[in-house]
Amino acid sequence: MDFTGKTVVVTGSARGIGQAIAERFATRGANVVISDLTEEDVNKTASEISGNAVGIKANVTSASDIEQLFEKTTEKFGRVDVVVNNAGITRDTLTIRMDEKDWDMVLDINLKGAFLVTKSAARIMMKQRYGRIVNISSVVGLTGNAGQSNYAASKAGLIGLTRSVAKELASRGVTVNAVAPGFIETEMTKTLPEAARQHFLERAVIKRVGNPDDIASAVLFLASDEASYITGQVLSVDGGLSIA
Ligand code: NAD
Repeated sequence: MDFTGKTVVVTGSARGIGQAIAERFATRGANVVISDLTEEDVNKTASEISGNAVGIKANVTSASDIEQLFEKTTEKFGRVDVVVNNAGITRDTLTIRMDEKDWDMVLDINLKGAFLVTKSAARIMMKQRYGRIVNISSVVGLTGNAGQSNYAASKAGLIGLTRSVAKELASRGVTVNAVAPGFIETEMTKTLPEAARQHFLERAVIKRVGNPDDIASAVLFLASDEASYITGQVLSVDGGLSIA
């Protein structure tokens, strides 16, 4: 898969899965935009990418940040071919104990953030008559998970967003798909107790935890020309967790 001359924006890409996705696109020739919450983090990660990368600070919950993100990207690279909605957080607890602010924060970043990014990117992609949008959902968006009702709702919401926007943009040459990762080793899962990790491992069909590169492989495929007849789909990359 060759992305030479293509421009790729990945939200929340200063570390973890987003960073691995950005790195992989860069090694395949893409111009990559590293976007995350702080100037320092985006510049550091962009400087470590082995390819053509720039850092642009943007909080996905801010409509003006996102407008600027795409203005700066088109100023620098002239177009936007691929957008990966990857920024996401967890605030886990049982629903009866969940503060309203933790519900709002998770929905704002994980779901509304993807809406704002999609809205800005879609305008550019429609004019180009070409684009690929890949949303990072989660296995728990398909199955639900006790202690993660806010997160699971946001990730299930992303699937509804994916399918709806796929229908809106297909005639303009834009595909919209989602990847649903299982348990992936990153900062996000580091904080989970060992029992949670063991629980996932017991249920998964493939007996190892996933790594960010497993997710990058799926994202690159869905963003490639080889996937031009695929839209509105959810690709599970979870070691079989969702079929167990
Ligand atoms: P991570 O915490 O390592 O990285 C998330 C990144 O998003 C961080 O760099 C963070 O600064 C950034 N971010 C947070 N809020 C933001 C905001 N408002 N605007 C811009 N950036 C923001 O987590 P990760 O494991 O790499 O997760 C990446 C994505 O994959 C998330 O959407 C997550 O829900 C999803 N996911 C992860 C797993 C897993 O097991 N790690 C499983 C399924 C889905």
